[in-house]
Amino acid sequence: MKINSSGEFNVIVVGGGIAGVSAAVSAARCGKTVLLIEKSVNLGGLATNGLISWFEPLCDGNGNQMIFGICEELIQLAIKYCFDTLPVEWGGKNRERQRYASRFSPTVFSLALDEYVISNGVKLRLDTYATYPVMEGNHCSGVICESIGGREFFKADIVIDATGDASISQRAGIPTVAGENYMTYLAHMLDKESCLPDKDTNLIRKWESVGSDMSGNGHPKDMPKIICNSADDVTEYMLYGKLKLLERLKKRDRDSFDIMTIPSMPQLRTIRRIIGANDFNAVDGMEFKDSIGSCGDFRPSGIGKHYQIPYGALYNPGFDNILVCGRIISAPAGDGWEVARVIPTCALTGEAAGKAAAAAIGQNCGVADIRC
Ligand SMILES: Cc1cc2nc3c(=O)[nH]c(=O)nc-3n(C[C@H](O)[C@H](O)[C@H](O)COP(=O)(O)OP(=O)(O)OC[C@H]3O[C@@H](n4cnc5c(N)ncnc54)[C@H](O)[C@@H]3O)c2cc1C
Repeated sequence: MKINSSGEFNVIVVGGGIAGVSAAVSAARCGKTVLLIEKSVNLGGLATNGLISWFEPLCDGNGNQMIFGICEELIQLAIKYCFDTLPVEWGGKNRERQRYASRFSPTVFSLALDEYVISNGVKLRLDTYATYPVMEGNHCSGVICESIGGREFFKADIVIDATGDASISQRAGIPTVAGENYMTYLAHMLDKESCLPDKDTNLIRKWESVGSDMSGNGHPKDMPKIICNSADDVTEYMLYGKLKLLERLKKRDRDSFDIMTIPSMPQLRTIRRIIGANDFNAVDGMEFKDSIGSCGDFRPSGIGKHYQIPYGALYNPGFDNILVCGRIISAPAGDGWEVARVIPTCALTGEAAGKAAAAAIGQNCGVADIRC
């Protein structure tokens, strides 16, 4: 079957989560034509469709801001049209929390992301599933997509995989590693009590969770670790959470609450990551010649830690025009992965991938050979 080209772009970003949005905006700001392809109809990925409504800190826990740029724009955007819990130290009103972090409304954030992406000159394609990269040896000439309009091919100079599951990279032949997950199923609930007119808006949102400890004390020890590598695995994972939630609801007074939203993507912390030119292992103080920036550590045990992230974690050296960003970068299980996967770090690696893509195009070289 011959597929005609539906368009040609300098950069194609597959996946409109936090990493993909950051990558697309970053490349567009460097003057490149950018197509952002998202399989759902809302931007934000896990942060919005996955109902993860807590933007982990941009600071090191000792009052030093670690991440700036697009990540900071995104945390401000996440709370621009809705409630927040930003601490006084970082320009908010909250006197309890200390770190540059905030709760946000996933729904409102998602709406704001559309405007953000479009106003930065990115061409957006929703409801479009990028199925396969088209490979000429180890060079990717573009991606095949499926949508309501049928099958299409989009041509690109550089492809950025921001899928959260590294499916484009894996199908291109880049070696990947599958990750392990704990069962999590979070839904957002509204109850009559929190609807009273004099209630603080911060209290509107409550959680109903299955399998994940929302108290912040870690994960239940008796929960098995789960690898999701196929649609059957994902179906089993999602059904487990949904049926558990329904079981709980059956025990409630049905007049007293409403579940406002259920996640529209699996709340898997990790699906796959690539094996890159270098690994990000989150070692405090370790320096890299190709550092793309530094982040802190969101965990209480990580207060004061500073981690540089190597650019080498964003590509595999055997592939000249594919970059990755977000939770699929080359960060092995352990501290590197824990730190790489949260929203601020995903924004940081996304911004770096967008700039690197623009640099490779401008310098007419492979992604491994760019000069800063
Ligand atoms: C249970 C849980 C709790 C978490 N808690 C927090 C927290 O409190 N704070 C925090 O900061 N982080 C938290 N995280 C981590 C964080 O939310 C995510 O890791 C981060 O948002 C991932 O961003 P991403 O852009 O890399 O990937 P994703 O959010 O997965 O985005 C990928 C996007 O790509 C799209 N896509 C995938 N494949 C294709 C394709 N082939 N074609 C087109 N589109 C495609 C998807 O629809 C999605 O929109 C949590 C994660 C989980 C699972």
